[in-house]
Amino acid sequence: MEEKHEGKGHRLILMPTPFQGHITPLLQLAQILHTKAGFSITIIHTIFNSPDPSSYPHFTFHPIADGLSETETATLDALHLTDLINIRCRHPLKDCLATLLSQVDQDPVACFIVDAALYCTQGVCDEVQLPRLVLRTGGASSFLVFASFPQLREKGYLPIQESRLEEPVVDLPPLKVKDLPEFHSLHPELFYEFVCRVIEECKKSSGVIWNTFEELESSALAKLGQEFLIPIYPIGPFHKYFLAGSNSTSLLTPDKSCISWLDTQEHKSVVYVSFGSIVAISEGEFLEIAWGLANSKQPFLWVVRPGIIRGSEWLEPLPSGFLENSGGRGCIVKWAPQEQVLKHPAIGAFWTHCGWNSTLESVCEGVPMICSPCFGDQKVNAKYVSDVWKVGVQLQNKPGRGEIEKTISKLMLGDEANEIRGNILKLKEKANVCLSEGGSSYCFLDRLVSEILSLKSSAS
Ligand code: UDP
Repeated sequence: MEEKHEGKGHRLILMPTPFQGHITPLLQLAQILHTKAGFSITIIHTIFNSPDPSSYPHFTFHPIADGLSETETATLDALHLTDLINIRCRHPLKDCLATLLSQVDQDPVACFIVDAALYCTQGVCDEVQLPRLVLRTGGASSFLVFASFPQLREKGYLPIQESRLEEPVVDLPPLKVKDLPEFHSLHPELFYEFVCRVIEECKKSSGVIWNTFEELESSALAKLGQEFLIPIYPIGPFHKYFLAGSNSTSLLTPDKSCISWLDTQEHKSVVYVSFGSIVAISEGEFLEIAWGLANSKQPFLWVVRPGIIRGSEWLEPLPSGFLENSGGRGCIVKWAPQEQVLKHPAIGAFWTHCGWNSTLESVCEGVPMICSPCFGDQKVNAKYVSDVWKVGVQLQNKPGRGEIEKTISKLMLGDEANEIRGNILKLKEKANVCLSEGGSSYCFLDRLVSEILSLKSSAS
């Protein structure tokens, strides 16, 4: 993509929610706005899960006190932690913004771009008179569901009742009640209130930026545009603006040895298994996955993040000699360079929890998915993967080894597998086209840059 410089001489301040799936797209967006438009970049971040400034020497980083204790962060309860950050960071953020705005020796600040989950920031920006743009790191289709929470509650679809799981949600086809978002939190009552605040504060912003592209989610984007009455900018997929692995946004160190292992495997033969950075599973679920993979007889690359098995440090529950007895068909790592893995010609399928980043990365590399959604937007994403885009299949909740083996065969071999592969290759092509000159994301990025510059002039 052509590089332009109309943002030169203007500064953007950005702030992520401190989880891997949020930090990555926010830093990618900052990098896009820096390289493609010339803006200078300041990142405000919490101490908890702080990004590594050495990966971005051309950005300025400002940590702010988040007030989170080790006991709180150890829960990995993303919903509760994000809510605490909204409460405890309000004042430190206001002080930090006031200081940055008063720096006369720096480029003037055009606006603040912040993760949608940090709903408290609209109030702060109003107080310091700084325009606020929102980055939504998830998909537009799931956000439309979040925006419909009040109606879903009114009509009794939420909270989810066991007896209604198979019922279609009339206003949100093709979703059924079982596909609606849930959140496993120590404070479940918080979810509804949290989502409503996020939506309300988004509507007050100067616009929403999406890591998606129009051809993938046109219907949801159109509805959101009508409902929100503020500009929306689908300018994704963010990671495709750069060479894979060119900017590190990873909180954990990726084990690159799995790439040489993939080099030894046959074309499109390997199942890549990863459930992202937050999902946790029981020992029983872990063992079913292990035996399902072993019995499938397909080679597999499996990310077992330390702490993913509740109550275990790492691989203790794995039967001894498991990998050796799987005939050398398996490779287990703590964290993978996922973008490079999905690009690798040996990868035939991605067994994923359907976090939005993973879903988009798989679409962009044309890798069919096996979906095991857990919480938040993941069930909505999985439904779109299996039933709307038809680029993957869903596994039932907590599947047994037999079901896993059957599903892997279904996705790797046979007629349905060919059809799914054909569908995802078409989407991959659309993802490439949208970023090229005249493509939808290319044009939206141009509009976004103009909007940022006009915000600047109306603010000053
Ligand atoms: N990821 C990675 N290595 C891994 C597993 C995940 O680099 O071994 C990255 C993945 O590429 C994605 C992010 O972590 O960009 C996970 O985000 P996602 O939205 O898929 O899920 P979350 O972690 O938020 O549940």
